[in-house]
Amino acid sequence: MSAGVFDLFKLGVGPSSSHTMGPMTAAARFLSALAEQGVLAGVARVETTLYASLAMTGRGHATDRAVILGLAGFEPATIDPDDAEAQLAHIAESGRLTLGAGGPEIAYSAADDIVWEGRTRLPQHPNALRFRALDGGGQVLAQALYFSIGGGFVVDEAQFDAPPAPSGPAIPFDFASADELLVMAEREGVSIAQLMWRNEIARRTPDEVNAGLDAIFEAMEACIERGLRQDGCLPGGLKVRRRARQHFNELTRRMERNISDPLAALDWVNLWALSVNEENASGGKVVTAPTNGAAGLLPAVLRFYDRFHRGGAEGRRTFLLTAAAIGALYKRNASISGAEVGCQGEVGVACSMAAAGLTAALGGTNAQIENAAEIAMEHNLGLTCDPIGGLVQVPCIERNAMGAVKAIDASRLALLGDGQHSVSLDKVIATMKRTGEDMNEIYKETSLGGLAVNVVEC
Ligand code: SF4
Repeated sequence: MSAGVFDLFKLGVGPSSSHTMGPMTAAARFLSALAEQGVLAGVARVETTLYASLAMTGRGHATDRAVILGLAGFEPATIDPDDAEAQLAHIAESGRLTLGAGGPEIAYSAADDIVWEGRTRLPQHPNALRFRALDGGGQVLAQALYFSIGGGFVVDEAQFDAPPAPSGPAIPFDFASADELLVMAEREGVSIAQLMWRNEIARRTPDEVNAGLDAIFEAMEACIERGLRQDGCLPGGLKVRRRARQHFNELTRRMERNISDPLAALDWVNLWALSVNEENASGGKVVTAPTNGAAGLLPAVLRFYDRFHRGGAEGRRTFLLTAAAIGALYKRNASISGAEVGCQGEVGVACSMAAAGLTAALGGTNAQIENAAEIAMEHNLGLTCDPIGGLVQVPCIERNAMGAVKAIDASRLALLGDGQHSVSLDKVIATMKRTGEDMNEIYKETSLGGLAVNVVEC
């Protein structure tokens, strides 16, 4: 079934949806499985093995911290970062961890209980993690293998070959391709956003859908605003300075002096994307859009629409619903995981979603929306994932700003045309998937290639 708007836009914590949120969710899910099997009370040790990309960039992406917090009962949507920090400090100091709510307290040492298996890539997916629960005598009580497949989505071994089904009742328009989406919308005489709306109100009441969409926008806005107030260096040792606050001050100064600049809007778009991604890199609260690494692009373009085009609530909802329809196509037919297809699956997909959302909000036809989404991805094909130090900082933060500007440009190109074009969105999605399959593993969130090896960390 196609992913819905609330599957793709989720509240979570940085720095990574696949390497932080996914593992935290997997740990929580393992605890639930232990409780269901009636063995939770007898657990004396939990061992976690991280494979391939999760191990290779897991330290920079805080995967170990995410696993520990998941075992301690934290979940991405509700986590309080200050509380989480305090818990991590307590666990490290005391060597004791209480397994979720109602579980036993066990001895815990991250050094002994988290195994980093970077050289082992499981055939299903590069982001794999295995949990084993043992009793006091060292007997295995239960074990489970999970895959963090991008955007915070987690599937277990059994689910891997079946498309992960979003929760809730069946939807009336389960489009499997862009072509189907366009045909369904034309048959119904509705926009892509209206079609998505009908899907969403099969799962929630109309008021709940509107409130949820508005909450997504508010969470994105809050993240931008928080990022604009922060200073100093980002965590992780790269000594990357936060720039959003300084850029904000400079742009505000220029505005106050009425300094005219025909491209000033782009400066603001860049700023808003940087702000969110700096928040993400520091472990702050962000909305996956569709991933954490690409979390700044869509909020920047949405705010561009809101501020520079005087968009209202209806336009913002149209933007988000349309963007989600496009994101669902990538999730279903390609991937939104940098470890699977490189950054084209993260920033590339976010760019495509934002281009479509903006085009819809500005009154584009369904054909123009499809065209905008296609243009945006076409010029992200082959984009590699090579984060320096395994941190979601360089090139990720600036890449969101560049992607946001590209999304606006793609939308403008599409809006000038009539929607007719030679490469369909379905073809570009298939090309992105194939390009990802052909991409050397060193460019897929391993930090073994590209900038990650050509820039010396200091
Ligand atoms: S390079 Fe792209 S895919 Fe890789 S971590 Fe950064 S944002 Fe994510």
